[in-house]
Amino acid sequence: MTVNLDDVRRALDEGLVEPCFQPIVELRTGRLMGFEVLTRCARSEGGPILPPNFIALAESGGLIQRLTHDVVRKAFHSARNLPADLYLSINISPIQLSDLTLPRQIAQLAEEAGFPLKCTVLEITESALIANVERAKTILNELHDMGCRLALDDFGTGYSSLSHLHSFPFDKLKIDISFVRRMGASREGRKIVASIVGIGHSLGMKTIAEGVETEEQAELLLWLGCGYAQGWLYGRCSSPATLPDMIAATPRSIAGRVDDGTISSLEALPAQRLAQLQAIYDGAPVGLAFVDADLRYVSINSRLAALNGAPVAEHLGRTIEEVIPEAYARIKPYLERALRGQVVSDQTVKRPSPIPGRPEWTSLSSYQPAWDEAGEVIGISIAVLDISDRARAEGILRKSEAQLRAVFEAVPLGIFISESPDGIVTRINEEARRIHKDPLIAPTSTDEYGEWGLKYPDGQVVHSDDYPLARALLHNKVDRKQLVRERSDGSNVLMDVWAGPVRGHDGETVGAIAVVKDIDATRRIREHLLRVMAELKRLLLNSATGAGLASQRSVSQDPF
Ligand code: C2E
Ligand code: CA
Ligand code: CA
Repeated sequence: MTVNLDDVRRALDEGLVEPCFQPIVELRTGRLMGFEVLTRCARSEGGPILPPNFIALAESGGLIQRLTHDVVRKAFHSARNLPADLYLSINISPIQLSDLTLPRQIAQLAEEAGFPLKCTVLEITESALIANVERAKTILNELHDMGCRLALDDFGTGYSSLSHLHSFPFDKLKIDISFVRRMGASREGRKIVASIVGIGHSLGMKTIAEGVETEEQAELLLWLGCGYAQGWLYGRCSSPATLPDMIAATPRSIAGRVDDGTISSLEALPAQRLAQLQAIYDGAPVGLAFVDADLRYVSINSRLAALNGAPVAEHLGRTIEEVIPEAYARIKPYLERALRGQVVSDQTVKRPSPIPGRPEWTSLSSYQPAWDEAGEVIGISIAVLDISDRARAEGILRKSEAQLRAVFEAVPLGIFISESPDGIVTRINEEARRIHKDPLIAPTSTDEYGEWGLKYPDGQVVHSDDYPLARALLHNKVDRKQLVRERSDGSNVLMDVWAGPVRGHDGETVGAIAVVKDIDATRRIREHLLRVMAELKRLLLNSATGAGLASQRSVSQDPF
């Protein structure tokens, strides 16, 4: 199909050049933000002329002003009842950016149609900026001052320099369809989109992706921090008559999947995420670092740098092995596992002190692989905690516990230890078991103490709550009783039971301890000793007086 300038002119004359409207939505919610006005050019004979053709013809043939005027007039008219929170985005040809009357024309068209200029966005392709920078700046500033917002179209396809970008009053950056297409195919494509989004964000511009056709593209764009999109997924370009339906349509949201966790950390754009991360990094009471796949420090917080004994700057770009060679040898296996994609958490490692002559310190470290969008491990996030104090305290605790255990088993007294709040009996020593002879249960609460089946010397059964151990726990008091145990072999044992609360640092009861003495055994020992001493006395007296062995067997009442 060959078309020429006459075809375009005829179409304009016959009113066959019409605007069509393509929805622009917020990616996360699918909420409608506005419409891009694209031009359709029909012919009375033959099929429509495709936009790149008639636009190029109009531009070269001096018809572009007329075409734009015609289309914008119709678009403003069709959209005059557009809800105030929606906008129309209009394409301006680069050629028109040398026309100083453009702002006035736009203002006039808007006024005629009663369409508010603040609901207007003008899309400028970046090539337009190159031709006449100063004039373009004048025109764009004027349009901006009138209330129009400006979008940089087809970003990345031309030659825009970042300084231009910065000096024009753009509000939006449009990511060209070619990048959106490439994004799905390669990691590089994704990186380009991520960088465009990053540039947009750092310059305070909203990013709009063009040509979004699939859910996958939408999700990926959202993940990369892009805010807005248009494309066949959300709607093709359609006639003015369909505007009300498009406005009333239910948004196509992917927020549901955001909420259920399929997609995470999308609220913030990359630059915000970076700032947040930096804040977490600096404020964290933990040593943090990120190393790339070659184990080079990409970032490190000052806490970890201090633990490693070198300033932050001396870490960046260098490998772990270069910075902390001795520690590296010890943590290498964990790093290797993380590089293979495993999460390695809570590893205790003794590490040499960064200060020569100082003792080793103990680290508790975690190594979390970081994946890119393609599922490849691109680095490791490292978290390190100095637990030297804790390790030392634990060592001391272990030692004193061992000492305590030795005492616990060595004393010739039965010992029961219970813990608050329920009164679970956590320890019973050997002597306690020996005194009771029969197997001893270890109750899990004070309610079960009655199962020990002890009695008062008068034969009354002891209620659970009246056991000295229970009273110490429940009433926080020292309690002492004589109690009897009827053993299964028929023998009875009379015990002196003493219990007292164990208090914590703040004086609260954390448990109780009961000490049990076998009174009969004590008495038997005492009697035995008395007998032995009496015998000794008698022998001594005999040898002194020469009296016979059959003399008086008087016994001293208090040998102790
Ligand atoms: P553009 O400004 O980059 O417009 C986006 C183009 O992508 C439009 O093509 C649109 O129909 C198309 N598109 C939108 N969504 C999808 C999608 O999901 N998949 C695919 N494959 N394409 C999609 P169109 O309408 O053919 O316009 C082509 C170009 O012509 C526009 O590119 C714009 O530069 C220019 N153009 C169109 N209308 C006007 C106008 O009124 N004035 C000026 N100066 N240029 C216009
Ligand atoms: Ca455009
Ligand atoms: Ca484009």
